[in-house]
Amino acid sequence: MSLMETLLRRITLDGPISVADYMSECLLNPAHGYYTTATAIGAEGDFITAPEISQMFGELLGLALVQAWLDQGRPAPFTLAELGPGRGTLMVDMLRATRAVPGFHDAMELVLIEAAPRLREQQAAALKAHAPRWLPSVEDLPQQPLYLVANEFFDALPIRQFQRDGDQWRERRVGRAEAGETGAATALTLGLGAPAPQPALAHRLDDTRDGDLVEHCEIAMVVTEAIAQRIAEHGGAALVVDYGDWRSLGDTLQALRAKAPADPLEHPGAADLTAHVDFETLCRAARACGCAHTRLTPQGVFLERLGISERARALAAGLDGDPLDQLIAAHRRLTHPEEMGNLFKVLGLYPAQCPPPAGLEK
Ligand code: SAH
Repeated sequence: MSLMETLLRRITLDGPISVADYMSECLLNPAHGYYTTATAIGAEGDFITAPEISQMFGELLGLALVQAWLDQGRPAPFTLAELGPGRGTLMVDMLRATRAVPGFHDAMELVLIEAAPRLREQQAAALKAHAPRWLPSVEDLPQQPLYLVANEFFDALPIRQFQRDGDQWRERRVGRAEAGETGAATALTLGLGAPAPQPALAHRLDDTRDGDLVEHCEIAMVVTEAIAQRIAEHGGAALVVDYGDWRSLGDTLQALRAKAPADPLEHPGAADLTAHVDFETLCRAARACGCAHTRLTPQGVFLERLGISERARALAAGLDGDPLDQLIAAHRRLTHPEEMGNLFKVLGLYPAQCPPPAGLEK
């Protein structure tokens, strides 16, 4: 049975499902989920991420975390963790860039959190020299200093969508389209549940009007709390890189299939589904745990502060022809405001008594 058939059957039996349930099924259904079945990431996949564009991205993030570790007095042992490591490229580059730092690799316990078995296999192959351990969830992160990266992880977490109705909210739900309602291409449609109060959205009554749509990611809060608790109590730092902004407004659910935008309801399991990250949610969760956070900083600004242009010049010295053109294009793609430089943001989490991670400001 295809995922579309599975979803239609479930909706017929139980009624319309939340956007979050729909996203979870599409991305992580054990038989048909996008991450469980597809080779999604990389030059041949549906989307290409910053670490797949250039080694410079992982190198600079690695050095920023090492600097935080040095600033905090080289705690040992500590956890080096990545959420949603994809093909493992970011961590490979981070580890190569940090191997010359005395004591860092010796004191590190490398931990990965990855839901998709096929990607876990790719990560195991890429990182076999470093004996990583996979944990089922962030709740299982050891109670010790934590240095963590997450690139394009939070945008894959399921969101719920709510439309304001007076002082209440109606949840958007995925239901079955009536014959003829949406044409032949899709059998799913979006509807609205009954109005209900939503305490988690109390702060959004200030900046929305009747009919506005907001998104809420409960899992992002839970994940951030687990990270922030470790950092506040034991030390460490986290670098979260993703697209989104301080506060998301409107429908940001999007599907990408074969590098082209698609209808999020049309190809369940066969398209990547993401939503903009509402960084305010992460910051509120961090503060609630007594963990400090940096200003939200555009990726381009962050990478420039960490010296990406110097690194690019050093790499360019040995190149000419196509490889040189590719390096120049990669630098531009990662940093230019019209490419990833502005759309992607970086947030740092760190202990309140320590300086913020390199490249970021209090
Ligand atoms: N960070 C990588 C991959 C980004 S794609 C890169 O930058 O290239 C998103 C990653 O998060 C994939 O590895 C996906 O399988 C993983 N992922 C998505 N939802 C997850 C979840 N709920 N728990 C653990 N991993 C998840």
